[in-house]
Amino acid sequence: FEKYIATRIWAKNYDEGVPPEVQIKPEPLFSYLDRQAAERGSATAYVYFGNKISFKTVGDHSDRVAAALKEWGLGKGDVVALYLPNTPAFPIIYYGALKIGAVVSPMNPMYTPREVAYQAKDAGARVIFVADVLYKNVEEADKMHKFDRVVVVEVAEYMPAFIKPLAKRRLKPPKIPYGGRIVSYKSLLSHKATSYRAAVDPREDLAALMYTGGTTGVPKGAEITHGNISSNLQQLKPLYEVVKRRRGEQQLVMMGVLPWYHIYGQVTVMHYGIFDGATVVVVPRPDIEQIMKLIQKYKAHVLHGVPTLYNMIINHPKARQYKLSSLAFCISGAAPLPVEVAKKFEQLTGAVLREGYGLTETAVVTHVNPLYGKAKAGSIGLPIPSTYAAVADPDKPILLPPGQVGEIVISGPQVFKGYHNRPEENAQAFFECCGLRWFRTGDMGYMDEEGYFYIVDRKKDMIKYKGYSVFSREIEEVLYQHPCVKEAAVIGVPHPEAGEIPKAFIVLREECKGKVTPEDIIKWTEDKLAHYKRPRAVEFRDELPKSAVGKILKRELRAEELRKLQES
Ligand code: AMP
Repeated sequence: FEKYIATRIWAKNYDEGVPPEVQIKPEPLFSYLDRQAAERGSATAYVYFGNKISFKTVGDHSDRVAAALKEWGLGKGDVVALYLPNTPAFPIIYYGALKIGAVVSPMNPMYTPREVAYQAKDAGARVIFVADVLYKNVEEADKMHKFDRVVVVEVAEYMPAFIKPLAKRRLKPPKIPYGGRIVSYKSLLSHKATSYRAAVDPREDLAALMYTGGTTGVPKGAEITHGNISSNLQQLKPLYEVVKRRRGEQQLVMMGVLPWYHIYGQVTVMHYGIFDGATVVVVPRPDIEQIMKLIQKYKAHVLHGVPTLYNMIINHPKARQYKLSSLAFCISGAAPLPVEVAKKFEQLTGAVLREGYGLTETAVVTHVNPLYGKAKAGSIGLPIPSTYAAVADPDKPILLPPGQVGEIVISGPQVFKGYHNRPEENAQAFFECCGLRWFRTGDMGYMDEEGYFYIVDRKKDMIKYKGYSVFSREIEEVLYQHPCVKEAAVIGVPHPEAGEIPKAFIVLREECKGKVTPEDIIKWTEDKLAHYKRPRAVEFRDELPKSAVGKILKRELRAEELRKLQES
């Protein structure tokens, strides 16, 4: 199978200075922050609404958070939930938790109380850090999963810059009943800083429990070790070094646009910034004009995003008014990048925009197109250094030759440990072949003779709405709770701006026919599912296509939708 593993054949096409293998030394993540705080303390780690925050401050504040957590009796393996938009407090709390050996479980700020409670319970979170504007949701969630402590992070002072879209109905932060279990983040910073560091085995000990649906769609925690993230940072380093060399820069300026609760922005920007001592311009929400202004003002070099972001920039009426030529390296991941969008963005900025690929379970990047070497349009690129990628038979533990479509599988130091408390799912997710442990991505694709990968379909029931991962199953479970729903199936339908939208096909119970509308169904999901997960279209049917054994054939629904789109 040697020649079926991409890493072995790609070397000649990568950028100069990017080797097939790098010497990886997995380390506890907090050692990177300690290093930056000690060696380059006065350098700027974050720019946040005009304020500059140094590495020394980040180190010191996270030592104080660590002291508070320790005082509350938290230690190795305890889980701390983060329910926050991007703010410098995010990495400060994250690293504070890591210093005492705790595990971070971040949540999308768009989550409803029900979703917060589900994750907190499944992860066993003892403490939650919540943005003040989202406090009410935690108050609700706390009735379903009792937290030891709720720490409220003051972000409202940056109103109205990002509160509006986050919590439309609450432009003002609610009155928070401080006292007892409910404390303010600011008060934590008056704790005496601790120099305590937990003994961490980076290969074994978890840094994060990241929630994802995986291939079955049931939300579950992907166990990410310190070593997984630390390895990915070291694997990505040669790529960023190409940019530094070309630009003659010592310190990169990166845009912190992608949300940090998701693994993509968390590893490539938040952790990478600390690992490499970069300055990160913190952007709590994707306001396109604001992003362009900030790129110009801080002369940013690196922008990570999803295709929707790049598309919005090129179509913005003021795009040509801003000087975006500082940008050198932009990566688009999470969903397919239309070739036209990439071309137009490169013409607008002069930057290199490359498509990459990764998953929560591979913390995070596994593929990217070379920056200045041969990039192939429509391809997710080549495996990054020390990553073994191949295409496997979706049902058997064997690898397939180049050109053949199968399931994309990954082996490498960034591949997660397994799903939290889900032995059956772990048994399905991994297999052994050719002396390596392979992870099944649930994405169908092929690789060409030069080791470039192409995605053609998904085996898993996942929809990518504006780059957000939406799992059909989660929506279906909520739909089935509606008293009028007899059967429900949710699929992703192609959409010009969003990439895909979730569409629900529903068979109503006899007694409800003519009495409920598609709008009623959508409305009903509102307090149960985060905004981006809600079905954007609902169609009632008398029956759904089924296989001989009664399985709903989503393939047929998808084909019907595609036909309709082609005809229109
Ligand atoms: P998540 O775990 O939320 O990061 O989602 C990972 C999934 O996003 C992958 O399994 C793919 O289905 C999808 N994905 C990531 N990058 C790309 C890409 N460049 N093109 C198409 N799909 C992608």
